Amino acid sequence: MRSVILSAGKSCFVACPGCYNYFGRTVSDTSQVVRFAAALRDRFALEKITVGGGDPLTRPDIVPLLRSLHSLGLRIHLDTVGTAFLGPARIRFMGAGTAEHVPADDVAAVTDLIGIPLDGSTDAVQQQFRRHATVASQLAALSLLDKAGARLCINTVVHAGNTEDIAPIAKLLGRYTAIREWQLFQFMPIGPLGHRNRERFLISNSDFERAAVTAREDAPGNVRVTVKSTSGRKHRYLLIDSAGLIWTPEQSHPAAWQSEDANDRRQLIGNINDAGILDRLMALEDAIAEVTA
Ligand code: SF4
Repeated sequence: MRSVILSAGKSCFVACPGCYNYFGRTVSDTSQVVRFAAALRDRFALEKITVGGGDPLTRPDIVPLLRSLHSLGLRIHLDTVGTAFLGPARIRFMGAGTAEHVPADDVAAVTDLIGIPLDGSTDAVQQQFRRHATVASQLAALSLLDKAGARLCINTVVHAGNTEDIAPIAKLLGRYTAIREWQLFQFMPIGPLGHRNRERFLISNSDFERAAVTAREDAPGNVRVTVKSTSGRKHRYLLIDSAGLIWTPEQSHPAAWQSEDANDRRQLIGNINDAGILDRLMALEDAIAEVTA
């Protein structure tokens, strides 16, 4: 089946002007989420789940959720800005207040890979996309996770404002032996904000490929570079928001990226608690498999 991305939280520590996401208004019970993940494992042979933004560390019971998913035998990739690893952290987007400190050791023990975003080597570049996250805060989170024995991945959204900064970012990665992978994502002009602000971030395929070549040449030897173009990600994700709503971006039939795929629409599939949701998903997965074959 497609990669499953579970938005564990309904808020974020940063406010990315190019955010692809639709945020849920509520947070579903952990028992319901875990039951649904188990059903996906049993029905679709799901082996891996990505727990991502709205930032997972804004969810008060994130560690029990990760433990429960881990005990299902799933591989767990966690994508987080990482702010609450450093201490109590201010929520700045889709909510207010402060998230409690989340111990890095507790999370490292039950995850297979932790993805931390780094979109620039200076705050001026970094904060064009990941507003409010400084380079120092990202490197501090990496240091903590490195010490906690986590397996790390760096996530970089490559956009019009940082293509010349790939080599300096690569240099920063050399400080951390725990970094296994560096994922480069070509900016995708989708979602309410990503589509609205697309002119600021859009890059051509050739500029993205050039950035990928630089990353491969300059990445430290222990870091595998993974390149994720817009075409390569099309039809590849099934998302579950914090309220349990399952959705995918609205995308055209052809496997390669088309101009009409840049939109702020999504296809709603149902809720994790709906009767018959697994049958509905099975039919959709069969249809998608034909498109991507
Ligand atoms: S793109 Fe930015 S604002 Fe959106 S969920 Fe991810 S970190 Fe949060």
